[in-house]
Amino acid sequence: MNFLNKNLSKIYTALCLGSATLLSNAVHAEGKLTIYCSVQSTTCEKITQTFSKKYNVQTQFVRNSTGATLSKLKAEQNNPQADVWYGGTIELHYQAADLGLLSPYRSPKQAETMPQFKALLDKKGDLTSILYMLVLGFGVNTEKFAELGIKDYPKCWKDLLDPRLKGQIQVPDPQLSGTTYTAIVTLIELLGEEKAFEYLKQLDANVSQYMKSNQVTSNLARGESAVSVGFVHSYATEKENGAPVEAILPCEGDSYSLGGLSIIKGARNLDNAKLFVDWALSKEAQEIPWREAGVYQIPTNVDATASPKSVDPKTLKPINIDFERFGSAEEGKRLVNKWVQEIKLKK
Ligand code: PLP
Repeated sequence: MNFLNKNLSKIYTALCLGSATLLSNAVHAEGKLTIYCSVQSTTCEKITQTFSKKYNVQTQFVRNSTGATLSKLKAEQNNPQADVWYGGTIELHYQAADLGLLSPYRSPKQAETMPQFKALLDKKGDLTSILYMLVLGFGVNTEKFAELGIKDYPKCWKDLLDPRLKGQIQVPDPQLSGTTYTAIVTLIELLGEEKAFEYLKQLDANVSQYMKSNQVTSNLARGESAVSVGFVHSYATEKENGAPVEAILPCEGDSYSLGGLSIIKGARNLDNAKLFVDWALSKEAQEIPWREAGVYQIPTNVDATASPKSVDPKTLKPINIDFERFGSAEEGKRLVNKWVQEIKLKK
C-alpha cells in the first residue's frame, strides 16, 4: 500500500475530461504521453496539465533529478517506460544521446531558439532541443551569516574555502544532480582538471553534506546551511517565499547550463512526443514556469518574455563550456566516478 501511495504521489496523471466542443480549438491528438520531468514539481504539473488539456492527450509525469533520470533511462533501455525527457541539465541529455538512449527529432521550433545557441543546436539538435538557460552561482542565507558573525558574503569560488564556513556549505550530490556536474565542468573550465579537483577536496572541508539539489536549496532557506551551490533562479523563488536568501554570481566568470528536451528511444507514443516537444519550445509553454509556477529560469525562445526576476542574459559574460567533451558519456562517468572516489568516499 505504501509502495502504491509513494508511486501514485510521484505520478500526476492529467486526464482530459473536456468534450469535443470544449476542445474545438485544439489539435485533435489523442492517446497517451509519459514525461520524465527534471524540473521543479510545480512546473512539471503545470506543463503536463496544460499540454494534456490543449491537445487532448492523457499525460503523466515522473519527476527526478537529471542524474537520477539518466540512470533510469540506462536501466530501462530495453524496455523504455517514458516517451519524452523534459528539462534537466543538457550535458546529461547529451550523455544519454551518446549512449544511444534518445530518438532523433529536430523540431521546427528550434528556429525560435536564441541565436547564441544556434551553433550548439546545429551540432547536437538532432536529438536534444534547448528549453531554457540556467545560471550557476551560490546562495547565501543572510540571517545565518549574521548569526555566524561573518559580514562579507563570498564573492568568488575561492571564498567558499574560508575556514569560517566550516560545516556551513551544502552541495548537491553529482550522482543524482545535474547541478553539481555543471559545477565540476565550470571549475575544470576555469582552473583545469587537476586544480579543479584540488579545489573540490579543499571545499569538502567546509561541506556538511551532499544530497539532492532541492533539499540543498530548502536547507539553505531554513538556515540549516549558510551557503549552497546551485542555479541562482532557485534562490529568487526562495526569496519570494520569504526566506532570507540572496544569490551570488561568482567573480571568476558566469557559468551556466541549458535545459534539455529529448525524445526517448523506443517511445511508445512517438507522435505525441513530437507534438509535446514542438509545444514545449513555444513562447506560451516557455512562460509557464514563471507565470504559473514561480520558477525563474531563462526562456530560450526568442519571442518568450522572461520574468523580471530572472537574470538578464544580456548582462552575462558566459565562460566557454565544451559541451562536446562534457556531453560525452565516458567523460561524464569518469568525472563523477573520480568525484565519488576522491571526495565523497573520503569524507
Ligand atoms: N532544471 C531546472 C529548471 C532547475 O532549477 C534545476 C536545479 O535547480 C535543474 C534543472 C537541475 O536539477 P538537478 O540538479 O536536480 O538535476
